[in-house]
Amino acid sequence: MKILLSNDDGYQAEGLTALNLAIKPLGAVTVVAPDRNRSGASNSLTLDVPVRATAYALNSYYCNGTPTDCVHLAISGLFDFEHDIVVSGVNDGANLGDDTLYSGTVAAAVEGRFLGLPAIAISLCVESGSPRNFEGAARFAARLVERLSKSPLQESVILNVNVPDLPDSAIRGVQVTRLGNRHRAEKVVRAQDPRGRNVYWVGSAGAGQDAGPGTDFHAVAQGYVSVTPLQIDLTRHAALPELERWLKLE
Ligand code: MN
Repeated sequence: MKILLSNDDGYQAEGLTALNLAIKPLGAVTVVAPDRNRSGASNSLTLDVPVRATAYALNSYYCNGTPTDCVHLAISGLFDFEHDIVVSGVNDGANLGDDTLYSGTVAAAVEGRFLGLPAIAISLCVESGSPRNFEGAARFAARLVERLSKSPLQESVILNVNVPDLPDSAIRGVQVTRLGNRHRAEKVVRAQDPRGRNVYWVGSAGAGQDAGPGTDFHAVAQGYVSVTPLQIDLTRHAALPELERWLKLE
């Protein structure tokens, strides 16, 4: 099995190292990851400058692009072989609900859909003072990869996995979930540059709003690993009939 690893925290991130160690026994691992932290890059591609891939270790490359660039490169030209699966992470932070639209971690997995095969995005829901158990999350990713290799899912899905940052013994199990959503984000934080001009930092994400039973937020808050199957189709199918009528009003 040929496994492609990427992330959005950059090739030196602790979560990627942990993932690599846990996945290695399962097959031939290749890493293509951004040269720096590109969290929040979503599905962006770099089109205005060339993208380079530089080897930094055996079968491991960093790239001056986004997570999507990394996976795109890896599956469409950087190598003369095809990968069987893409695993992205372990992200340093949760990717719950709306986070999935901004996340570079999820985007790297989404880009893997070109393979027509399942891809996994895995994130550790760190909080201040939590144990940063990247190894535990990485081991869970390895279990999923192993299961997918032995028993492929019929549906081509992206698995968005969020692991509570707890010691292994405190994880209560696994729940299949749907995405919840968050309250609106905190306001931007304004500061001044040395020339007295205003600059802004994007503020924190909001707390969970749709976070009841069945959601990814709820599972993680209860100490369960959350596994959400994602699809790419953003069509609001339920709105199609009403929109048909609405456009015929005049
Ligand atoms: Mn990240």
